[in-house]
This record gives sequence, structure tokens and C-alpha cells, in this order.
Amino acid sequence: MKHLVPRGQLREETREEVTTLLGDLIRIDTTNPPGNEAKAAEYLAQSLEKEGFNCELLESEPRRGNVITRLKGGGEKPSLLLLSHLDVVAANPTEWSVDPFGGVVKDGFVWGRGTFDMKSLTALEVMVMKLLKRHHARLKGDVILAATADEEKGGGKGVGWLTRNYPEKIRADYVINEGGGLAIPVNGKNMYTIQTAEKGMLWFKVKATGTPGHGSIPGAADNAIVRMNRVISKLGSYHAKITLIPAIREYVTQIVSEDKTAGPVLKAILQNSDCADAVLDELAKRDKFFAEELRVKVKMTLTPTMIKGGVKENIIPSECEAVFDCRVLPGQTSSEAMDTIQNLLREVDLRKLEFQIIESGEPSESPLRTALYEQITEVLKDFDPTCSVAPDMLTGGTDSRFLRKMGAVCYGFHPMRADMPYGEMKKGVHGIDERISIDNLVFGTSVLYEVVERFMT
Ligand SMILES: [Zn+2]
Repeated sequence: MKHLVPRGQLREETREEVTTLLGDLIRIDTTNPPGNEAKAAEYLAQSLEKEGFNCELLESEPRRGNVITRLKGGGEKPSLLLLSHLDVVAANPTEWSVDPFGGVVKDGFVWGRGTFDMKSLTALEVMVMKLLKRHHARLKGDVILAATADEEKGGGKGVGWLTRNYPEKIRADYVINEGGGLAIPVNGKNMYTIQTAEKGMLWFKVKATGTPGHGSIPGAADNAIVRMNRVISKLGSYHAKITLIPAIREYVTQIVSEDKTAGPVLKAILQNSDCADAVLDELAKRDKFFAEELRVKVKMTLTPTMIKGGVKENIIPSECEAVFDCRVLPGQTSSEAMDTIQNLLREVDLRKLEFQIIESGEPSESPLRTALYEQITEVLKDFDPTCSVAPDMLTGGTDSRFLRKMGAVCYGFHPMRADMPYGEMKKGVHGIDERISIDNLVFGTSVLYEVVERFMT
């Protein structure tokens, strides 16, 4: 196969095409709920079919479209799925400086809801498929593209539905999806992340009960709000055990070796993880966001998020409810977390507490240092010779968890250089004025194409 562009050089020829593709996707409003991803799925199918692809449109419900296509390989190499979701979260146009669904291109950026999370990766992955076909790449394994519905509401009508109903259509040995790839600037160099793990979540409700009475004689009643106060202070002040999962140990190791300011402070965590809180308190004085983000990557968290109790000024309430958002590390399960929580509350009197799980999702993790991980690292070094690469864990979840359950090695890898301040880039995700630079679209297409082509041929 002919390399039209030398290794490590940008595919400038895709600049206009990938920008148009993303702008078009942004103009198809797929705010979830209700989603309406079918229009975006049909648009992609048409665009791919023009170049000879056979696409399948699969609807989990009317208008909840998923599109899948496949380039057949020889079967000598593992298969690779390029995954993305088509839905976006809501955007309030009055808060934005441009129309969030206008696909506006200005100042070298494409603006709009989904430009970062994650229609840009969809556009990159579609471009990669097209380039593989145009260049007649001799694939040794299947490369599959799936752009799906409903990720922002848990994936039940997208990847979750596909894995239940059409597992053979999206089964792959390796998966590239969202959740990593953005370079963190460290001492003037880029540290790219590959997301290899995700925390699990457990949303639960606690109901404290008591005996009602007159507000003027508290001793004669049993106040559920007072009981709930003890529950919240117990759970809210819980100090979870510090655990460095392999991905985070490696992530911290990279920062220690690359970052001249944070590195020396963080070093202590690698030697003795018990001191993590003290070290991160120290780091937070300089970089609060970075320190707090890292703090939740080394432990389970337990956060009260809602509370409801009482009906009248002079009635002592017999019921009070609170909701908690608990996030667990890979290696922990939500049922173990529930046991820990109930143990913590033993002294509050469990007989007067009721527990209800609202929603739960288990954590997921893929191995580090696989052939694909090494391939991504090699390609990044070709494009950005002074860069470093580190695995990372997301504190939220993506559709990768469904595929990891099916045995696939999943990496979050959406290659992007930091061409805006790091915090500024992340703020657009589910926030206002979400945007991505056209340079980053070209960079992302080039890196991703090179990864897939080298890995699969
Ligand atoms: Zn997303």
C-alpha cells in the first residue's frame, strides 16, 4: 500500500471535508432526550454509501437510530471497532455566543453542541473509514464503525440495546471510543491520555424514619431530620481507602517524571498512597481543579446530592429522604459499596433507615500495554516527538463499559492537542460555547488514520 502522506505528517487534504462533516452533524439536533439520532445516522449512511460502503441502520425505537458499517479484513489480525455516540446534551441558546445547532465555523473553530462530546470523533472515525477505502488499505482484520444513540442517557437505546440484540454486529477485539486522547500541557510538552478505565456509579436513596410530634416538645417525638443529619455527616465525611489502580499509578508516574512543579509533590503518593490526601491538599493550593480531579481517581466517593423532609413549621417530621451519588473504583462493586455504606450507618440505627438503589453501573477496566496501546503511543511520538502518553481513568462512564463486558479491550482515544487552556477545553463539554479547532480535526484525523492503518494492515 502506498503512503500518500509521509508518516507523522498531517493529512491536510481532509481539512475541508472533515470540517463540513462535523458542521453538518452539529446542524442535526440530536439533543437527548428525545435523541432523534436517526437523522444523523441516515446522514452518515448516505455519506458513506456514496463511497461504496454498505451501512445498516438499526432503530431501537422510532427515531433512535444507530448506524453500523464494516470493512472486511483478511482475518489474520484482531478486529477493531470505531465507536461514537450521536446524541448530545441540551444547550440553551441564550447562554451561547453562537447558535449551538448552527454548525458555525469561525476563528478557526467549529462551534456547537457536540463539537467536543462527541460528534468530532464521529467525524474523525468516518473520515478514517473513507480514507482506508480510498487508499485500498489491505486490512488484515475487520474495521467496524458504529455511531450510536443514547449514550448521554445511559446507552440503553444505543450500545446497550445493540449488545443485547445484535452483539455480532458490534463485537470486536479492540474498541476506540471517547473519553481520552486530549493532551494535557505539562512543562510546555503534551501528555496525551488513553482512557483505559472508568469508575462505576451507585445512586441510592436513604429514608430516615421517626415519630411525628409537636415542634414545641421535641423530646416527645423522634425527629427524622435529626437522624438524617447524622446519616449525612457520617457519609459525607467518609474517608475511603486510597487505592492506586494500575492506570492511575502509571498516570501519576508520568506526571512525576514530566512535571517539574507538581511532580516532586506527587512523588510521595507513589511511595506511600496513604499520604495521598495530604499531598493533594498541598497540590490544591496551586492547582485546585487538577488536585481535586486526581483525588477522586484514587478512591471511592460518596456525595449527598438531594434532600427532602418536613411538611410544616411546627410538625416534627417522621420522614426524611436524601439521595447520594457514590462512585466506585475498578476492582470494587456497587454491592460492596452498599455494604460499606450500611456498616458506616450502624450506629445511626439501621432499623430506622431504609435504602433504595436508584441506579447502578459497574466500573470497567481494560489492560494497559496491549498491541493497540503501543501502536497509539508510537504514532503519537511520530506526530509529536517530545510528547508523553499516559493511561487514565474517567470518573464518569461511557459506552465502553458495555463492550468491555463483552470482552473487548476498549480505549478512550480522541486525539487532540491542547490549543486552548486545558480547563477551557473541558468546560465546553456539557457547558457553553463548546468548540473544537479545525487544526485539531486535521490532527485527530491524521493520528487516528495512522493508528488504524498501521495496526490493521
Ligand atoms: Zn460523550
